[in-house]
Amino acid sequence: MTGIKNIGVIGAGTMGSGIATASAASGFKTLLFDIYPQALDKAKGSILKGFDKLLEKGKFDAAKHKASGENLVIANSLEELKDCDIIIEAAIEDINLKKELYSKLDEISKPETILATNTSSFSITSISTAVKNEPGRVIGMHFFNPANIMKLVEVIKGSFTSEKTVDSVVDLCKKLGKVPVLCGDTPAFIVNRVARAFYGESLKIMGEENKDAKFIDEIMKEEGGFAMGPFELMDLIGIDINLSVTKSVYEAFFYDQKYKPSPIQQKMVDSGLLGRKTKQGFYKY
Ligand code: NAD
Repeated sequence: MTGIKNIGVIGAGTMGSGIATASAASGFKTLLFDIYPQALDKAKGSILKGFDKLLEKGKFDAAKHKASGENLVIANSLEELKDCDIIIEAAIEDINLKKELYSKLDEISKPETILATNTSSFSITSISTAVKNEPGRVIGMHFFNPANIMKLVEVIKGSFTSEKTVDSVVDLCKKLGKVPVLCGDTPAFIVNRVARAFYGESLKIMGEENKDAKFIDEIMKEEGGFAMGPFELMDLIGIDINLSVTKSVYEAFFYDQKYKPSPIQQKMVDSGLLGRKTKQGFYKY
């Protein structure tokens, strides 16, 4: 049994918003922090709107709607997360930024606070080297997008992660209504590693055969039986995040050509076409 009551979430983007939604709706006091106040305003607005919709649909009763909204607290500084029992980091996929954040968390948090990262691809062991006080509390907690809906959470044990931390996080996942699956600390873990080919080969077909996104997505859905096509999925994930993950996996596997990033994605990132979050990616929203 975990004594987790307060959850800190760092990063109020696509994933942080979804994680905070799941956490607040599951009865945890949830402190959400982002370096950009406008990201926090946007996330708060959309999370509360989501709770309103659940009330309208009858999925929340009035008491749960009220409690979920009250559980969400906006933190204006990282220090406000210092008393949380667990801090789940969902800032952008940049190893230097994550290590810097973990080093700050090491200074401000209690030594028993669990430090979980939602990284899609980086080594948990490498991130945990930034934590000098009790590195056994660093763990991977990889949610899927949209994090308030998708059930799977990959729980990744780094070389220093303690069993106590693993047990607490597995228990927490269940309390959040999730299905935790233990994974080894290998680049991109299970799902994202398998999915590299889904995105990478689709981008190659687009470039080599001059096929458009809609054509490939429709074949994959209608004939291939996939719930979403690769281009719709990349737009949902965020083209920038997806490219960062591909770059990280490519590097982690010593530049194995099968993980080579696509110039198509790089060009889109350079042009600011990041998918749903910028209202344009492979599709317009
Ligand atoms: P995003 O770009 O939507 O949001 C990231 C947020 O982090 C932004 O609001 C940004 O302002 C904030 N941020 C940046 N630096 C920060 C800092 N120093 N302190 C606090 N906040 C900071 O990204 P995302 O898609 O939510 O991805 C977040 C993490 O989750 C990444 O590690 C990513 O690999 C992982 N992830 C993403 C997906 C996905 O489908 N997008 C799925 C699983 C995991």
